[in-house]
Amino acid sequence: MGELVPILGNTLLRERLWRAADDGRLHHCYLFEGPEGVGKRLTAERFALFLNCEGEARPCGTCRPCRLILAGTHPDVIVVEPDTSRATRILSADQARGIIDALSLQRHSARRRVVILDPADALTEEAGNALLKTFEEPPAGTQFCLVTARPAALLQTVRSRSQRVRFGPVSQQELTAWLTARGLDAALAIEAEGSPGRALRLAEGEAQERQAVRDALREALGQPLHRLFAFTEAGGKKGDDGEAGAARVVDAVEELMADIVATAANRPPRHAHPSLRGWTRALWPGGVARMERHLAHARDRMRLNVNGRTVLDALLSNLNLELSQVTR
Ligand SMILES: [Zn+2]
Repeated sequence: MGELVPILGNTLLRERLWRAADDGRLHHCYLFEGPEGVGKRLTAERFALFLNCEGEARPCGTCRPCRLILAGTHPDVIVVEPDTSRATRILSADQARGIIDALSLQRHSARRRVVILDPADALTEEAGNALLKTFEEPPAGTQFCLVTARPAALLQTVRSRSQRVRFGPVSQQELTAWLTARGLDAALAIEAEGSPGRALRLAEGEAQERQAVRDALREALGQPLHRLFAFTEAGGKKGDDGEAGAARVVDAVEELMADIVATAANRPPRHAHPSLRGWTRALWPGGVARMERHLAHARDRMRLNVNGRTVLDALLSNLNLELSQVTR
């Protein structure tokens, strides 16, 4: 769990839950359902904190129960996930019996014992049946939070014993602001469809993709043009659509220029490469200035929907020309 990170969206839903807790009208078994990555699990964990916090503004994140829960070591906050050592992603009957055993013991210290099942749709029929009675009538002071992005896949018998809490997507506006604050590409908000979790995974994939393009470009530099064009063809096809791939290559050329400028100024480059000194000798300063103009031109043409590969061929021919003029 770690630290008290902000949770995006679904604010009203949490307020309602917190209020129900303060008024003593909690349902003993909630089913948090909604799209993947919108904060269901995070809310379940925050709920456990709220219910057990001894601070003033709950959850404070600093009192003893809060710290134990955040560290994942509070004996009365039980998180059950599929056993990763098994081939199938299930919550097994053994795990169900483990929960029942744990609940048969006295509570250690918690005001309210919290059991989180994530994802609850991974419960096997046997496991679900073993837990039915417990879901229906848990020991006093026990709170169940079942988490699922696939409520329809959940055992009907389990679903009927829980109170559904429906999570919605996070607003584009909120997601965009959050991505920007984290230094991530705000454009990911659109593809992430209101899921911060998805946005993070996309950002990770995007970073890997960029790394691959950067490596491939630097590998192709100074090679005969037909080899370079083979790269632009591949680069133009990378990603979900060709233009996104072409834009990444243009970005990679821009990064290369920035690294050359850094090397010329004896600053560490953002992305080191054994040939960087040689390229700097070749391009600094006139070649870099000319490449900046070629880059601006390439971006203009891409905005005008010129075919990505055509733009890349021209840009990289110019770059190779700059490199060859000095090495000659
Ligand atoms: Zn606290």
